[in-house]
Amino acid sequence: MALVQHVINGRSVGDDQRTGPVYNPATGERTHEVSFASVADVEAAIAAAKAALPGWRATSLIKRADVFFRLRHLLRERTPELAAIVTSEHGKVLSDAAGEISRGLENVEFASGLTHLLKGERSEQVSTGVDVHSVKQPVGVVGAITPFNFPVMVPLWMVASAIACGNTVVLKPSEKDPSTSVFLARLFQEAGLPDGVLNVVHGDKVAVDAILDSPDVAAVSFVGSTPIARSIYQRASAAGKRVQALGGAKNHMVVMPDADVPSAADAAVSAAYGSAGERCMAVSVLVAVGDIADDLVEAIRSRMEKLVIGDGTDAASEMGPLITREHRDKVASYVTGATDEGATVVVDGTLKEFDGDGFFVGVSLLDHVTPAMKAYQDEIFGPVLSVVRVETYDEAVALVNGNRYGNGVAIFTRDGGTARQFEFDIEVGMVGVNVPIPVPVGVYSFGGWKDSLFGDSHIYGPESVHFYTRSKVVTTRWPDPSESQVNLGFPSNH
Ligand code: NAD
Repeated sequence: MALVQHVINGRSVGDDQRTGPVYNPATGERTHEVSFASVADVEAAIAAAKAALPGWRATSLIKRADVFFRLRHLLRERTPELAAIVTSEHGKVLSDAAGEISRGLENVEFASGLTHLLKGERSEQVSTGVDVHSVKQPVGVVGAITPFNFPVMVPLWMVASAIACGNTVVLKPSEKDPSTSVFLARLFQEAGLPDGVLNVVHGDKVAVDAILDSPDVAAVSFVGSTPIARSIYQRASAAGKRVQALGGAKNHMVVMPDADVPSAADAAVSAAYGSAGERCMAVSVLVAVGDIADDLVEAIRSRMEKLVIGDGTDAASEMGPLITREHRDKVASYVTGATDEGATVVVDGTLKEFDGDGFFVGVSLLDHVTPAMKAYQDEIFGPVLSVVRVETYDEAVALVNGNRYGNGVAIFTRDGGTARQFEFDIEVGMVGVNVPIPVPVGVYSFGGWKDSLFGDSHIYGPESVHFYTRSKVVTTRWPDPSESQVNLGFPSNH
């Protein structure tokens, strides 16, 4: 069986001593094995990144930007090929895979503006004959650890800005869909990136811990589930590294009584079931305010009937399978257990039958869900939408603010005043007004609050330039030697 290997210093390496299976989730077929890195493999990747650092740091900004301009062109040209790899290992439908690539491209476009982004500041005459300027310099070797659900976009969230800022990178993608990261590394190479600047190692906790524990890694970007994000943050920051660790989510969509029911239902169905609910910004809780609930639930139910679920390579499919058999079964358990907890199962997707051995499950809708239920408490990360009914705007806000996650939230209303107040009141990092999945464009930064992000920097966009650089402030004076004298006083700015 074909082995997915690491990319270290531009070369494919990695044996089959310790491996993991890669499946096509639509067929259940085991298509590849992925080599799991040993500590020595990770150390070799870090050494390659460390060796490439001085040369890449010294490469002119224009030459660095050229790599991103070429990469943008290559990524656009090769999107169908890359999307096909995403679909074959992740399962999402091809159009969705192409969508993820285009959102990842925004980060490449942002990075190609690095000559502007890396400008420092300068002040003349802060004291008599004294000037001050600041520069942004790379932090060094960056560790980038990514989840399975966006195998192109999330690696690009990290590596584009990190490399643009003059750093070198060791990327550890999800072992469930590892091939896209290898493809990206090869595309960077084709775009002119020198060997060693971007290295890819595959594997599990062994590889991740080797990155976290290495004294040669200066900063770590992580995206994944909350328990792992928290532990990565603790371990890497205890070792004195810069860390941003983005975690899981439970995104609410609040629908006010004045909202347009068909539009809100369209948005809820799209945002809850797109990519089989395996998006960190998927809507998983619908908060129906006041008397809109019955109409809204019925409008959602009627739309669910028409969804086409199937192999992502079939152009007719709107939703594909889940990532693994185990995950599919776990998602299903929230639906089968919901009635016992007192929820109403309006649509039971676990009853839907599929041909073959793919990891499919149908779409589910739970009504009368309460905050005490498991379906509300946990991030299900599958095609299950829970409806919580509340009477007032204040109850809706209290519900969202009481949740431990704070990644994304949306409000649907026709009232600008309500929307403005919601923006003010809500304790969530990314807010949509009549936009169900408010992922910021690449010139802003992405990040949640509370248990959805550990660390103080959001990812990509302007905050990534801050995260991946160290600023240095230089104070300069060119005095006439004839005026020189000993002065033990503390320098004051006059
Ligand atoms: P995960 O936490 O299981 O894995 C993420 C990465 O951590 C992978 O590379 C994995 O190999 C590694 N990992 C797993 N267990 C580890 C351990 N014990 N020690 C060290 N490393 C470990 O997440 P996943 O299942 O791949 O992705 C889904 C999760 O990611 C969801 O919770 C989703 O909400 C979250 N996510 C969040 C965002 C965001 O921006 N906040 C974006 C995408 C996904």
